[in-house]
Order: sequence, then C-alpha cells, then structure tokens
Amino acid sequence: MAPTPMIQQYLQVKSEYQDAFLFFRLGDFYEMFYDDALNASQLLEITLTSRGGNGDERIPMCGVPHHAAQNYIDQLIQKGHKVAICEQVEDPKLTKGVVKREVVRLITPGTHTEGKSIDSKSNLFLAAADQLPDGFALSYVDISTGEARATYITGTEKALLQELQSLQIRELVVSNQLFLLLNEEAQDLVLSIETMDEVYQAEERLLAACPEDLRLSIQRLLSYIARTQKQSLEHIQAFSYSESGQLLSIDFHSKRNLELLQSIRGGETKGTLLWLLDDTVTAMGSRKLKQWLHQPLANKRQIERRQFMVESLIEKYFVRVELQSLLKEVYDLERLSGRIAFGNASGRDLAQLRSSLERVPAIIAELQNSGDDVLQDFSRKLDRCGEVCELLDAISENPPLSSKEGGVIRDGYHEKLDEYRYASRNGKDWIAQLEQQERQRTGIKSLKIGYNRIFGYYIEISKANMHLADLERYERKQTLANAERYITPELKEKESLILTAEEESLTLEYELFVKIREEVKQYIARIQELAATLSGLDVLMSFANVAEKYRFVKPDFNSSREISIIEGRHPVVEKMLNKQHYVPNDCVLTNDQNMLLITGPNMSGKSTYMRQVALTIVMAQIGSYVPAESANLPIVDQIFTRIGAADDLVSGQSTFMVEMLESQYAITHATERSLLLFDEIGRGTSTYDGMALAQSMIEYIHENIGANTLFSTHYHELTALDQTLDKLSNVHVAAMEQSGKVVFLHKVKKGPADKSYGIHVAELAELPQPILSRARELLVSFESENKKHVSEVEQLSFFDDRDTESEEVLQAIADANIAAMTPLQSLQLLNDLQVKLSK
Ligand code: ADP
Repeated sequence: MAPTPMIQQYLQVKSEYQDAFLFFRLGDFYEMFYDDALNASQLLEITLTSRGGNGDERIPMCGVPHHAAQNYIDQLIQKGHKVAICEQVEDPKLTKGVVKREVVRLITPGTHTEGKSIDSKSNLFLAAADQLPDGFALSYVDISTGEARATYITGTEKALLQELQSLQIRELVVSNQLFLLLNEEAQDLVLSIETMDEVYQAEERLLAACPEDLRLSIQRLLSYIARTQKQSLEHIQAFSYSESGQLLSIDFHSKRNLELLQSIRGGETKGTLLWLLDDTVTAMGSRKLKQWLHQPLANKRQIERRQFMVESLIEKYFVRVELQSLLKEVYDLERLSGRIAFGNASGRDLAQLRSSLERVPAIIAELQNSGDDVLQDFSRKLDRCGEVCELLDAISENPPLSSKEGGVIRDGYHEKLDEYRYASRNGKDWIAQLEQQERQRTGIKSLKIGYNRIFGYYIEISKANMHLADLERYERKQTLANAERYITPELKEKESLILTAEEESLTLEYELFVKIREEVKQYIARIQELAATLSGLDVLMSFANVAEKYRFVKPDFNSSREISIIEGRHPVVEKMLNKQHYVPNDCVLTNDQNMLLITGPNMSGKSTYMRQVALTIVMAQIGSYVPAESANLPIVDQIFTRIGAADDLVSGQSTFMVEMLESQYAITHATERSLLLFDEIGRGTSTYDGMALAQSMIEYIHENIGANTLFSTHYHELTALDQTLDKLSNVHVAAMEQSGKVVFLHKVKKGPADKSYGIHVAELAELPQPILSRARELLVSFESENKKHVSEVEQLSFFDDRDTESEEVLQAIADANIAAMTPLQSLQLLNDLQVKLSK
C-alpha cells in the first residue's frame, strides 16, 4: 500500500533537507518522523511514538508543541544540528485533501539568532570561504546585527581554520570541493555546502568595498542566506574590507599567547586584556571592543582619532559619567534592527527602540555642552532618527510580549481603534454594573458575572441561593457541582457588542503594528549607523575609565621603528597582583639596537616583561592609553610570539614541534616593522640542540629581518652574542638574596644575569659544601667549553665521542634552512633524524 498523501508530502520535503531535522507542522505540533524522530527523541529527551500511514509499517514519530518549539530548536542548534521549519501555508479550513506545506526557514548554527543560548556580548558569525591561489577569501556576517566583513587568509587550510576559530565562527559555507578538503579537520565547525546552482545576484552596494577576488565568497554567503532564510535581509550591511597595512595583524597563536580575548588555559575571559579593558555599559559596546581587539589598527590617523576622544573623555569626567548613564538606557540597537528586518520584532522591541532613540538628544546635548571641540565634533555623527521616533510614537508605553493580544498601540493614536476600545471597555463597565443590579434585585450577595470561551458571559449563582434566582428571566446554560450558570437576552446582546469590538480592535491593532514595523524598516541603515557610533562611544568611554582607574598614559607615535616605554607595566598582572606592588620596567629599542636578549632565573619576570611590551603596542593601536609613565611607539604591522606555557617542558616533543612551527611562521612572515617575542626558544629539546637553534634564529632575525625582537633564554652562553651582533644587547631580570631567601626584584637591568645564580640558590638551600664546590669547578670548565660553542657551533661535537649517525644528525640540523621549510618538511626532517638515531 502506498504511503498516505501526507506522508508522501513529508518524504518529498525531507528529501530536500537531508542534513536537517524537519519540523513538520501538524496542527499545534511540529512532528518529526523516521530517523529524525529516533534521533530527536534521544537528543531532546522527548517521547517516541509511532503512527501508521505507510502500509503495514509503523512510522517512528515524536513532536514538540508549536508554542514551545523555540527551546527545542535552541537545544538542537546548540548541539550543532540544523532545523528546517515546515509550515502549513494554506488555511486547512479552505482546502480539500492535504494542506500545502513548505519549509519557511532553515535554522542553522550560523543563522540562529534567538534563544536562550545566545550571548548578547558576542557576535554570531556565519562565514563563507573560497580558495584562492595563495590562500582563501573569507567573508562573514552576523545576521543578528547585520555586520559584514571580508578578508584574505594566506596559507593553508590550517590558517583558515585558525582564523575561523579565533573569530568564533559557528558555521562555514563552502563549495563541494572545499568541503572535501576541510571536512576532516573542521571538527567542531559546522560546514554547509552552497553550490550556487541557482544564480544569485548580490546587491552591488554590499560588494562595493571589496576587491574582485573576495566577491565570490560573499556571493556564496548571501546566496546561502537567501536560500535558507527565504527572505531578503535588508539590515545586512555592506561588506567592509581593510586593505593589508591598515590593520595590525596578530596570528591565532599570538592572540592566544598574549591572552587578548581568551586566556591560554580554559579560554575564559578573566585574566585577558579584554577583561581589563571592558568597562562598557552596552552589549553593543562589548561586541565592538572585541572587534577592535581582534583587529587593532595600523593607521596613525585612525588611531589618533580614537585617542583624541579618549583624551577628551578623560578630561571631562562629569560628561563621561552622564553619558555613561544615558548609554545604559540604550538597548541593543543592532539586534533590534535585525529583528525588525526579519519581521519578528515585537511591540516590546519597538518600545525598546523608541526609548533608546529618546536618549539620543540628551547624549547629543551632553556632548555639545561639554565645551570640548572633539566631543562636539563627535556629536555631529549622531543621528536622532526623528522620523523613526515619529513612527514609534504610536506604540504604547508598556506593550505586552505578544503582539497579537492588543495593548501595543497607544490610546489616541487611531480614531477607529479608540472607538472599538471604547465600545469594549464600555461594555465591560456595563457588565460590572449589571452584576451590582442583579445582586440587589435578587438579594444574592455571591452572585457574579463571569466569562469563558465556550459560553461567553454568564450569571453564576450557587446552589444554596438557587431559590432566590429570577428564573423567569434567566435561562440555564450550564450546571456545575455547586452552582448554576445562566444567561439573559440583554447579557448576550452586550456580549456580542463587546466581543465584536474586541475582535475588531485586535485585528486593526495588529495591522497598524505591522505597518509601523514595515515603515521602520526603511530606516534600518540609519539606525545601524547610529548604533555603530554609540557602541564606539561606549568603548572609548571604557578606555577613558580604565585609563583613569589604572593610571595609563597616552602614547605618542613615531614614524621610525623606535620603542621607548618608560616605567611600563603589564596591566593584567598588575591588576591580578592586587595589593602587591608591580615593578615597572623600561623598554627602549632604537634603530641601532633593536634586539634584547633577556636572561634571569625562572619566575623572575622575563615572560611578563616581554608580554607587557606586546600588550602596550596592542593597547596603543586600538586607541587605548597604555600602562606606563610615558610611551613613544612605532606603528607595528604584525606581532608574533613564541611563548610557551609553563608545562611545555613536561609535554616533550610535540610541544617542541609547536614551538618550531610558530617560530617558522614568525620568521617567514615578519617584516622590519614587526614585533617578535621569543620566550625560551629551544628548551623543549636537548641543551645544545636547543641552544644551536636559538642562536641561529637570533642571527637570522638580526641579519635578514631586522624586526624589533625580545628574546628570553636560559642559555647563558647566548649572552656572548652581543659581541658579534651589533644590534643585540643584553638585559637581565634581577633577583637577590635577603636573609637567606631568594627575592625576585622583577627589575630589568642592563647586562646578562649572574651566571652562578643557580649555585647560589643551592647554597641558600644549604646543600652540602662538597657539592657546591664541585659545582663551581664544573661551571668553570663548562664555561670554557661553551665559549667555543658560541663561535664555532658547527664544528663542535656536542655529543663527544658519539658515532657517525649522531654527527650526521648534527650536520643535518646545522644545514637545515628553517626559514625555507614548510611545517611538513620540518616534521619530515625530524622524523628522518629520529630514524637515524635509533639505528
Ligand atoms: P619567567 O618568565 O622569568 O619565568 P614570569 O614572567 O612568568 O617569569 O613571572 C613570574 C611571576 O612573577 C609572575 O606571574 C608575576 O606574578 C611576577 N612578576 C613578574 N614581573 C613582575 C613585576 N614587574 N612586578 C611584580 N611582579 C612580577
């Protein structure tokens, strides 16, 4: 027996949405069948049942009530699934046979914008990528706010995936080919395929700012959105594109190492630069700050524009306090615009939009009256959106959550609506009066008039009082356990008046509401522009607050490459130290001396010092003030770090591989305008091997790159390099002994660290004298050995009398041209070396 027409319809729709859960609307439920039902019943912990409809086969089935669907959709999306919403698109009352049904929207992790799991302080990005000859075109959009950007990713799919990870992209749209390439590695990322079989012409305004070869990925993205969301999204903004050189680029690892947005361990916000700098008062501001940290600027004029604002806001303390309390009252204009564009904004959303817009004149006035040119200028960028306010005047003070139950449009806005409302309210008053009259007439104090959906208005009298009822006029309608319900002709007459008026009023009200919402749509671009300006203001005020609170200063910029940070601090460590004193340190790099080799005992503060320099640069280039007494900085194009976590030493070779890969990346991409940080390079391998690598890297950077470089090491031998490399100088982080204890001074001083420091500590620990004197003896002999190593690394046999295999291995390491090797080649080399050694 063939399946019933409805099941046929289901199977037909399902065949087009294989990779999604199909929510198939049946009356008040969304039902799922077959595998969808089996899987969903487990994932959502809902009851699995079955039904007929396909011969003898029982079809597995489960369903969720239509009004509670949001929560279930949210759960499935959270778990990385997609949900296709299939609605009845005809009125069942007017059709014979099966009601027509269509998928009205495909909800995916990248297009899911409503629900409990949505974090208002983060963007929800959906991205599309396409392959280019030397990398990828990447475009991404936040459908909830309309922000859209496009960029190039150079390198392999690994680089692409890292960028996606660092932007916290939820879903990536790709071609079939790229799908095959990425599928293995994508892991947590949801991949969707968009083949663009149907020609999709993106609006030119969206693409205009982007170079030709980025446009395919934008087309792909928009085509996917149009296909899945099935509506034009007027709030999507033009894709912004920054030419290389406009931004400070920081690779994925370095962002993590420096803990800009996420901590190294745990990935949380606490302890990050974001955590320190975020004193924003709106969700929009918080998202904007993340975006700025993600893409610091590399254009002096743009940076200074932000700086001037911060400067003025610091100066005008009271203006800032006032502005911040005004901004607190501004709702998330970006997400409200998104909802308006989607056509699912409620009356309450419109009221929020209105009350937000109502703050704008006060914000403008506050800026205008500040007596500060910069703030006055800024106020001119703010658009009052007067037309929108006029439209929204129609909305009542406190609209209910549901837009269909009335109360959305205010009294006095629309004459006809007022009439209906009057009639219905009047009728209700009449009923209240009738109740009074009937009580008096019958003498039944407990008589009451009630309402239910089936019988309408009725008079209710308890059984005990039945004998008093005026049964000549009353007509019995319903009998309850201890009461009777009656109607009268006049009551029914009034009832029909009230109900008609109510119905008419609701219908009219909803029409008016939808019309206003549509009209507001035209102004979305302006509202977004306003949102962008306000969120920028929020971040700049946050910078001002933080600068004031932690005593930051405004950095100056020079057009050479010189760094001069006087009394600099690591702002996050300083904050974490709580009451303890953070020891400030200078960092001065000139064109003639731009490499520092940093030595000092473990835990003395080498890595903190290096990070503080990088953080100072990042803070400066997002427009913030910096933690120092004074700072004169270059505009840096890229920051690279190789900073190990403390447990690197334990985890052995795989970590060493990571170290080498990060070094390789830095060395091949850095320019003389970059900042390089290398922390303890080479400690993941044997001493001489590591030292040799460290030295050759320093030499290479010195000779071939010329970037500002901070290099920390525990290989004391390397400190002799200042003899041969004229741009390198030694500094050390001081420690001392005090009443038998090691005291870390955390002070960075000129020259190399004291080499017998370890033995000194051993002495403090009261190791037996013979051990200490033997150690001193050995140190002297090691030192004379090592002097040779530094100058003649290649010729020395580090492994003394080891066999020829070892010699060959050493030679191979020495010969390897790391700068020219791909990660794979270096892995291959390591592997070959291992094989050789194990022979
Ligand atoms: P290293 O890299 O030399 O092993 P770290 O940079 O990790 O040392 O510093 C160790 C700890 O010392 C830090 O976690 C911090 O608490 C403290 N520290 C580092 N620098 C300073 C400083 N300038 N002032 C105060 N405390 C500091």
